[in-house]
Amino acid sequence: MSQVLALKYRPSSFDKLIGQDAVTQTLTLALEQKRLSHAYLFSGLRGSGKTSTARIFSKALVCEQGPTSTPCEICEHCKMANESRHIDIIEMDAASSRKIDDIRDLIEHTKYKPNTARYKIFIIDEVHMLTKEAFNALLKTLEEPPEFVKFILATTDPLKLPATILSRTQHFRFKQIPSSDITHHLSHILNLENVNYETEALDMLSRAGNGSLRDTLTLLDQAIIFSKGYITPEVIASMLGLLDPKQLELIFDTIIKGDREELIKIVKELENYECEVVINELIAYLKESFFNSDGRFSTLITERFFRILSESKNLLYLNADNGFVLTLLFFKMLEAMNIKTIEELVDSLEGEKFRIPKIEPSIKVPKPQQEHANEAINENPKEEIVAIEKPLHVEDNGAEQFAKLIVKLEDRSHELATCFKNFIEYTSYENGTLTWASSADDEHRKTLKHGYPIIRQFVQEVFGIDTQIKMSQSEKKKPLDNTHANKKSSSLKEDIEFNNPNEGSNTESCVSGHITADKKESEAKEILNDPFVKKVQEMFKVKKIEIHPKV
Ligand SMILES: [Zn+2]
Repeated sequence: MSQVLALKYRPSSFDKLIGQDAVTQTLTLALEQKRLSHAYLFSGLRGSGKTSTARIFSKALVCEQGPTSTPCEICEHCKMANESRHIDIIEMDAASSRKIDDIRDLIEHTKYKPNTARYKIFIIDEVHMLTKEAFNALLKTLEEPPEFVKFILATTDPLKLPATILSRTQHFRFKQIPSSDITHHLSHILNLENVNYETEALDMLSRAGNGSLRDTLTLLDQAIIFSKGYITPEVIASMLGLLDPKQLELIFDTIIKGDREELIKIVKELENYECEVVINELIAYLKESFFNSDGRFSTLITERFFRILSESKNLLYLNADNGFVLTLLFFKMLEAMNIKTIEELVDSLEGEKFRIPKIEPSIKVPKPQQEHANEAINENPKEEIVAIEKPLHVEDNGAEQFAKLIVKLEDRSHELATCFKNFIEYTSYENGTLTWASSADDEHRKTLKHGYPIIRQFVQEVFGIDTQIKMSQSEKKKPLDNTHANKKSSSLKEDIEFNNPNEGSNTESCVSGHITADKKESEAKEILNDPFVKKVQEMFKVKKIEIHPKV
């Protein structure tokens, strides 16, 4: 390869221009319909094809068959234009010839007719570099040039041009060439050059070229030499100081696994790379995974990761420590994997439809007396809050769950919990039915009845949402000693129920069984008519349970 690729494969016709369809279409139409302006402005990123287009357009204007959108390529004008030696196509670089004298020379040139062609064409590259005086000198000629003169101005920065220049030219905006177009072009060239390659490597090259075809081709020249005839992602990664794609794979896998230790190791390995390069590579990887519908990253996760990566770039500008920024961004990504969406939260809460007020799902656990170091922090609490999970169904360990229920009650209302502990005894938990025995007297029954919605709710939280509560009556009167009850609540045998509609305003103890069945029944109906009780019945699908005290 004696010639650099950018020159060797410089496009010679409109159809060979890469990624500028809108511009080439408009210019083609203008040439075909002979609707030509005397001044054109081509603006766009470097390497987007402005100069190439200007040359093709010039050739189209001077061709013997022209002006035509398809120059013949065989006439003397076409040949000279292709070899960049046409005497009537004058190229000037405003970056080096920016003074008023340079423009005066140019204006002088416009006064003479073309030597051989029908037009005299002036291509001024980087036109925004001209001085203010030079612009002013150019203005009049630009507005009313001789008929045979055409101007093609090119710039990467049209905003720096005076409005007077902009208003006197036809403006064509060259967009950044899509990287897929560039990759495609590279593979086309490599096939012609007989060089083997992997497409992923070409993607990496076009990313590194930042949308500039010229820059990318320069990199490709370098890659062909560096790779000794076979262009792989590994070769490109080491040539450009980029991460190996396998390494990127490993980083994301580790984040998904949530392996913190491994991430710290990775950060150490990445010390050899420039942090911004690493972030850019991570973004590119993420983008590609997203477009390939990679199942590992949901849209939400992709968005979060992208946000974290972009924010990390800002941290770099704050002159932050590279390794620290990487560690921080990896750990932020770890956390982002765990944040729930509103929908997920709603789903998880749906299992708790009957949630009444807001309750802390916590359990107080006595803290073992240990180091004195902690004493200064808090004087009294010898307990800590531990979140407990809410099982939907618990068949085993009913007694254990029952203890949790008591702890929850205790957390909510000491009075209710004490009453519950003293008078309610766990019997069994089977097939979604929790059975307990009650031994409450009138007064305590009222307390328990009053607190029943809360008790019911906690039962659902601890035992599961569908849990049915069944009560039996225990004959034994129980001791009211609180401390005693606290310790042995679940082992005491006692009785009484509080949900049985039979009681209510009844002043007699239900344990005594002195009331006649009829009387009880009528009172029960009365209570059942109470709107609040009705509501509770609806909510909890209450079953009526007949309780017959033992004699
Ligand atoms: Zn020709």
